[in-house]
Amino acid sequence: MTDDIAQSLTQRNGRIERLKERAQAILAQRDNDIGLPMVGALESAKLLEELRIYQVELELQNDELRSAQRAAELAQRRYQVLFEQLPLPALVLDNNAMVDDCNASANALLGNLRYQQPTDARFWRKLNGDDRARLHAALRDLQAGETRCLEQLAVAAGDATAPVFDAHLIGLSMDYKLDRRVLLLLVDRTAELAHAHDQRLFGTLLDSSDSLIYAADKQGQLLLANQALLTFLQRSRADVLGHKREDFLPLRDAIVQTKVDQQVWQSGQAVTLEEQMHLSQGGQALDFLTRKFVLRDSAGAIYGVGGISTDITTLKDQQRQAMLSETVFMTSEEAIIITDANTCILRVNPAFTRQSGFSSETMLGRYASALKSGRQDQTFYASLWQSLNNTGRWSGELNNRRADGSFYTVHSNINAVCDAQQTVLHYIAVQTDVTLLHKARQQLEHQASHDALTGLPNRTLFNDRLAQLIAASKRHETSFALLFIDLDRFKEVNDTMGHPVGDALLRTIAHRLQSAVRTEDTVARVGGDEFVLLLTAVDRARAQQFATTLLERMREPLALDASQHYRPMASLGLAIFPDDGDTPDLLLRNADMAMYGAKLGGRNRLASYTPQMTLANDQAFAIQSELAEAIAQQQLRVFYQPKCRLSDGSVCGAEALVRWQRPAHGLVMPGEFIGVAEKSGLLMALDSWVLGEALRQVGHWLRAGLWRSDWRVAVNRNVLDLQHPDMLLQLQALLAKHQVPASVLELEITEDALLMHTTDQIQRLHSLRDMGVSLAIDDFGTGYSSLAYLSQLPISVIKIDQSFVRSMLSNDNDAVLVHTIVDLAHNLGHTLVAEGIEQPQQLEKLRAVACEFGQGYLFGKPVSADDFEARWLQPFI
Ligand code: C2E
Ligand code: MG
Ligand code: MG
Repeated sequence: MTDDIAQSLTQRNGRIERLKERAQAILAQRDNDIGLPMVGALESAKLLEELRIYQVELELQNDELRSAQRAAELAQRRYQVLFEQLPLPALVLDNNAMVDDCNASANALLGNLRYQQPTDARFWRKLNGDDRARLHAALRDLQAGETRCLEQLAVAAGDATAPVFDAHLIGLSMDYKLDRRVLLLLVDRTAELAHAHDQRLFGTLLDSSDSLIYAADKQGQLLLANQALLTFLQRSRADVLGHKREDFLPLRDAIVQTKVDQQVWQSGQAVTLEEQMHLSQGGQALDFLTRKFVLRDSAGAIYGVGGISTDITTLKDQQRQAMLSETVFMTSEEAIIITDANTCILRVNPAFTRQSGFSSETMLGRYASALKSGRQDQTFYASLWQSLNNTGRWSGELNNRRADGSFYTVHSNINAVCDAQQTVLHYIAVQTDVTLLHKARQQLEHQASHDALTGLPNRTLFNDRLAQLIAASKRHETSFALLFIDLDRFKEVNDTMGHPVGDALLRTIAHRLQSAVRTEDTVARVGGDEFVLLLTAVDRARAQQFATTLLERMREPLALDASQHYRPMASLGLAIFPDDGDTPDLLLRNADMAMYGAKLGGRNRLASYTPQMTLANDQAFAIQSELAEAIAQQQLRVFYQPKCRLSDGSVCGAEALVRWQRPAHGLVMPGEFIGVAEKSGLLMALDSWVLGEALRQVGHWLRAGLWRSDWRVAVNRNVLDLQHPDMLLQLQALLAKHQVPASVLELEITEDALLMHTTDQIQRLHSLRDMGVSLAIDDFGTGYSSLAYLSQLPISVIKIDQSFVRSMLSNDNDAVLVHTIVDLAHNLGHTLVAEGIEQPQQLEKLRAVACEFGQGYLFGKPVSADDFEARWLQPFI
């Protein structure tokens, strides 16, 4: 409006000027052209008219101007009020940038500026140097009518809490050259900036925390999430803020979280809880300690729940580890002792109490050395400590003493527990009681090297000792003896009396052997009924002497059961180191061979090894392999030796004796192969063949009238035949087949064989006698049966062993013995046959003691059936 007025005023002024010029021109023309009055008058009149009109217009305009002026004044007053009341501090700077005016707000902010002198620079002094320069530059560059903003101007420089403003500059003048006044509006940003600062601080705090910090509204939408949470979730802030937990947490975790939130805002109470969150669905679970609390708005209304969750996974793992360790400690089967660095006991577990008998209470505060048994010396403990100090560990066996004073052995692992500086804090000992283990091991070792039945060293240990003895004897150039002992007829004891009796016999023998030797000697059991003795530092003579005494000792009667006494007998083989062998194998083999020689020699005797035995042994081996064939190949023969009446020398029967027509060897005597046949299980077949052949032959002679029916043919039988259940039937069948009456047959059984019998066998002997078959005891006197005992058996004939007959001439004792045997046998109703009568003097003596029958070379040697027939048999009809 003011501009309009001004413009109109300017126009009018121009018009007035032009009118003035025209009026002056008219007046000048009139002065120059007095002669032309008509023109002047006309012009003047027009001018006047114009002036009048103009006058009117001017007045009108003056009215307008006045009202405009009034309006302007009003506006100015209005602006002044506005300026004054403006809540923003406002200043007007004059051309010199001095404060020309300021409103109340600015006055209050900047101090009393209103009444300052135009040159007063108080305002500028309120600004710091930089801000001052910035404002100056802005004012300088400001164009007319332009506005500009200077941000963050600090007023009241030097004060840290000074308010900060944005300064808006407004050029007030249209013409900047004339008027450079500028309106300065100050917008206070102090609070806003402070808030932003707080926000940053708060954000930094949140994001610097390792704990997950978050807030959610009642709908479960996340309002806040710190960096730790975002890292945990592997999400950006935008991914989670405003989203429900289901969008970024495994469903199970989201449900649990939301539920807890609900409880918190429903109760209004903060809670602290331990919970788990998973890295992903089904992923690793982490443990958190969480504090949840309600969020209230300024009016106190709950609008959400805040939470701080601290990852305690490591702590929980440690806790679990500690619990696990504690469980292991408490439930371990191994004793655990924990001490301090001075071995003072801090803890022991229940297994320790079970192991040692010491309760936890009694051990606490005591030193570990209290457990020592005193069985391990200082050197032992010195090396233990050396290991512990150098390596931090020791393992080995300790001998300890229990609460009850008994000793026990533990296998112990001791470890030092150190801190970061390698200072020992504790010692931990884990101990297993190995006492029983040791015992079991010793037992096992003993079992591995000893015979379970007799407790004697077994073959393994014997071999060891033999090797050691050979080495020692070589060093000292001494000899020693190896005695191989094999029980005679042990198999029969076992078979007839049962294994428990056999075992008892073996134990007795073991005991007898053991008590017969010196401590430095060894007795071992190396087979069923085989024992070996190592007699250190003896020569052959002493060994033989010892073995003979031993034989005597072994023979002492023993009660196998309540009813009978038994004299154990054995065959002994002796080999001397180094003469009979200087290696374990050879020595043992040769002693074994000597023992075998003793067996062949009639058992119950000692045989010393001789090189010939090796030869014989080889032969025996050959015999064994050929003998099986011999029966099938009809190589066996039966020879007959006459049995005669001693009174007149007349024949009254014969003994059938086997021979072997061995290819390339000629006629072989039974002494060479009966033992082998017995050992190799061929004897029964051999005996059966001899029995069959003898009965066939005698049957033939009977029918030919050459054999009288009151003569007997004596056939040797092994006692084992009696065990055969069909034996009687077979015998009957055989007798019938060859038409031989049972009374013609006499079965000879050796004395020692008869000692072993079963009820069955006795029963069979009775049946035999009932059948009419005679039974004879062969080689009587070599065994240890008493006649009284034999009288209980159904025996009718006793054959006195030829060794008595042979020695009765030279040995009075034997003569007396023979006499006694004959008397006793007669008293018991037995018939007597003397074997091996070679000399007439023997015959005389036997006649003198009233022995009725005899066999011997004096009468006739065993001969073939043909020769026997030719020499001894004549038709008697
Ligand atoms: P034996 O049953 O005592 O037989 C008597 C042995 O004495 C026979 O030896 C006989 O030849 C021998 N003899 C007889 N009179 C004299 C004599 O005056 N002086 C000497 N020095 N010896 C005499 P043989 O035939 O060598 O038989 C030895 C042993 O073999 C027998 O002793 C017997 O136990 C056994 N035997 C023989 N044949 C058989 C058989 O068929 N079966 C079984 N199981 N054993 C048999
Ligand atoms: Mg005989
Ligand atoms: Mg005989």
